[in-house]
Formats: sequence, C-alpha cells, structure tokens
Amino acid sequence: MSDNHDYDLIVIGAGSGGVRLARMSAQRGARVAVIESRYLGGTCVNVGCVPKKLFVYGSHMGEDIEDAAGYGWSVPADQMRFDWPTLVANKNTEIERLNGIYRRLLENAGVTIIEGTASFTDSNTLAVGDASYTAKHITVATGSWPVTPDVPGKECILSSNEMFYLPQLPRQAVVWGGGYIAVEFAGILAGLGVETTLLYRGDMFLRGFDDDIRRFTASELPKKGVKLRFGVTIEAVRSEGAGYAVQLSDGTEMATGLVMAATGRRALVDGLGLEELGVQLNAGGHVVVDQHFQTAVPSITALGDVIGTPQLTPVALAQAMVLSRRLFGDGEGVMDYTCIATAVFCQPNIGTVGLTEAEARESHGKLRIYRSEFKPMKHTLSGRDERSLMKLIVEDSTDRVLGAHMVGPDAGEIVQGLAVAMKAGATKAHFDSTLGIHPTSAEEFVTMREPVAE
Ligand code: NDP
Repeated sequence: MSDNHDYDLIVIGAGSGGVRLARMSAQRGARVAVIESRYLGGTCVNVGCVPKKLFVYGSHMGEDIEDAAGYGWSVPADQMRFDWPTLVANKNTEIERLNGIYRRLLENAGVTIIEGTASFTDSNTLAVGDASYTAKHITVATGSWPVTPDVPGKECILSSNEMFYLPQLPRQAVVWGGGYIAVEFAGILAGLGVETTLLYRGDMFLRGFDDDIRRFTASELPKKGVKLRFGVTIEAVRSEGAGYAVQLSDGTEMATGLVMAATGRRALVDGLGLEELGVQLNAGGHVVVDQHFQTAVPSITALGDVIGTPQLTPVALAQAMVLSRRLFGDGEGVMDYTCIATAVFCQPNIGTVGLTEAEARESHGKLRIYRSEFKPMKHTLSGRDERSLMKLIVEDSTDRVLGAHMVGPDAGEIVQGLAVAMKAGATKAHFDSTLGIHPTSAEEFVTMREPVAE
C-alpha cells in the first residue's frame, strides 16, 4: 500500500465518523493519521449525544423522586436538593474518560494523532501550523457547528455547546428552535426547575416527524413545565439587569435569565480551502459527494455531518465502514439510508423509524393506520398525568409496516427493535403473530388490532 506520501489516509476530524474510518482503515493495514483541533470524539462525545443523555437522566430524576411517593417512598419536598455544578463536574469526568478511550482506540490501532487545525495546500497535502503532511487519500470528517440566526444581540445567545458548561442554572430560560436540540434542552432545563419557554417560528414544532407525534409531544411537554410558544421568533436580544430582554416577532418582549438557540447546525469547513481545490459545496454549505463519499477531487472524500446526510452518529459510523471498505478493503458498497431509527430525548422520549403518515400517503397507495394512546402503568400509582402514544403505518396492499412511531418512556429503546423487524420487511401480520411481553408498554405495538384510519 505504500507510496511516496506520508500516509495512505489522513482523516480531518476525530469525531464519530472520523475515528471509525481511521481505526478501520488502520486495521486494514493502511498508514493513517487523524488531525483534530479540538477534542477526541467530536460533537457526540463532547457536546452532543453523550452529555445530553446524561443531562436528560439528571433532569428526569427529580420527577422519579416525586413519582416514588405513590409507591410509598417519601422524600420531603423541603429536603429535595439539586446541585447543577455536581452534575456538570460528574459529566465532565465521564467525558474525559471517553476522550481517553478514543485516544487509546486510535493509538492501539496504530493511528497517528496530530493535534492542530488543518488546511489544504494541495489536494494531497495538509498544513497544520508549520508542519505539512501528505496522503494518498484525505477524508474531510469535520462535522457541524451550531448556527445562530443573525439578530441584534446575537452575542447574548448561547448554543448547545455552551449549555454543557454553564456555571449555574438560570431561574428562567428561553429556548429558540423547534428541532431535536430545542426540545431536548427545553426538557432538560424544565426538569431541573428552570422556568422554560420554547419559541418556534412555525405553527407546530418537530418538522419532519409524524404529525400525530408532533401534536402529542406538544400536549405532553407543557405538563413537564415547558411553555410552548409557536408562530413567534426572536427579533433581538439585549442585556438587561442580570438577564436578558428578548424582543419577539409578535411585538412582545420577554425577560429571561438565558437565551439558547437550537436553530440548526452548519457544515464545519472553515479555513480548509476546499473550494479552491475544486471541492464543491452545495447551497446549504455541505461538501458535495457521490454515493461513494467521493468529492470532485479524486484524492478527497468526505463523510458525516459535513456532507449533509442525517446528522446522526450511527449514520457517520456506517458511512465510515463503507468508505474504509472502498478505500482499503474489498468492496464498493453503498449506504442504505432507509429505516434509520432515531430518538429525540425530550421528556417523554420520541422514538421513530420509517415513514411518517404524510410521507407514506404520498409514496404508497392505501394505508392502514393503527394508533394507541394510554397512561403508562407506572403512572397509575405515581398519579402523574403523562400519556404515551404508539402508531403504526401499514401499506394495505402488502401489509408491510412502513412506519413505527412512539412518544413515551424509553421510546428509543423500544423502537430500535422495531427497526430490525422493519428492515427485514415485517408485515402487520408478523407484528400480530408476535406475542407481547406483559406487562410492558412495548407490547402495545403487537396488540393494535383495529385501524383508526385508512
Ligand atoms: P434541526 O435542524 O433539527 O432544527 C432546527 C430548528 O430551528 C427547526 O425547528 C427550525 O425551524 C428552526 N430554525 C432554523 N433556522 C431558524 C431561524 N433562522 N429562525 C428561527 N428558527 C429557525 O436542528 P437542531 O439544531 O435541533 O439539531 C441539528 C441536528 O442534530 C438534528 O437535525 C439531528 O440530526 C441532530 N441531533 C440528533 C439528536 C438525536 O439523535 N437525539 C439530538 C440532537 C441533535 P423549521 O422547522 O421551521 O425549519
């Protein structure tokens, strides 16, 4: 494999996709380096999936303690304490442990870790500070970064990046946006006792999810203390006293202690010099690649958030496996983007796989829609007013299950298994002939007998 380059492969970015590509390729015998300017593990490990899930656990625990009363456990309300710095410090310790694991994984695979910021000097050469490195293949796996709309007072607005290191919790917070990150953080803050308002510009948040799931989530979040305001956006923010005044598009103003934007993430390509080499960026700023992750420049490939495919860790990991196999293995496989299961860790969670009802109506003929809404058994004794929703979308002519959607505790855990069944082509008859696990919420997915709509 050796030629006159320093490496067979240099990966720019040690996030989920980059690390997987580097390790897999090194294990196939390639000489690999990875260049990273920030932290090992990328967004997922440092300021994304992992710390977010830890915060969601922490946030939900207050509710668990309250719910325990119905089961005979009593924790007097005046003795309930929550210490935010403890949660942040413990989370930081865990993230450092994971950073170390990522370092060892790379080193044990024989990958050279280069710390610094890379920029292309030609299509096979990268400069990092005063040093330069050449490689036969270079993969851009630089990920994405939060975007905050350009409004006056933008500098007062935090992104998810800073939320993970807040020194203290405010009494009130405004979360701006209506996607994954906004609903997750609104839930985290509300669960920790912060008076939280989520502002979304459209008339229903979570665009892209099934409409029943969106509406149902909108009816559940306020029960947890998240105030939802739709059809409104932020026009300006200014410091006022110890907090901020938020000027809204409906002419009103809100006072708050914190403003967080969760208004999307852009591809992180700054300073790489890609376009100068002929690598194209699309209108959204993502690196343009073909289905083999190939850019217009033969030596340059790209994967993960930076190419604009679903911004999910498992997607980047799978892309890395496909690309490593193509560059250094035995195959020209392509990614299968169908039936990607995903969860939103709002409270209660959303779990979803396959088509929404609206998508299925557009792409398939007659459907059968199954829906079940119920109070989870746990809350019969806790007395909490929380409900779950499950929904199946079935193609009438083939009986194939096209979509499975859920709002409720552990929705992500439940929907993962359904994704396997749907990948295998499961029909509603397969679901019906599967015996439930009793008593669980999950069994509802195999006991929905009568369609509620066609
Ligand atoms: P999303 O793209 O999911 O949502 C962005 C939200 O901000 C949308 O509601 C959008 O509104 C709104 N928005 C965008 N621009 C503006 C603007 N100029 N003014 C007002 N509102 C605006 O982005 P997120 O930041 O929430 O998350 C990024 C990605 O990260 C997700 O798509 C997901 O792939 C990934 N992620 C996955 C998680 C998981 O798997 N659990 C958790 C967190 C993130 P509109 O709908 O009207 O366009």
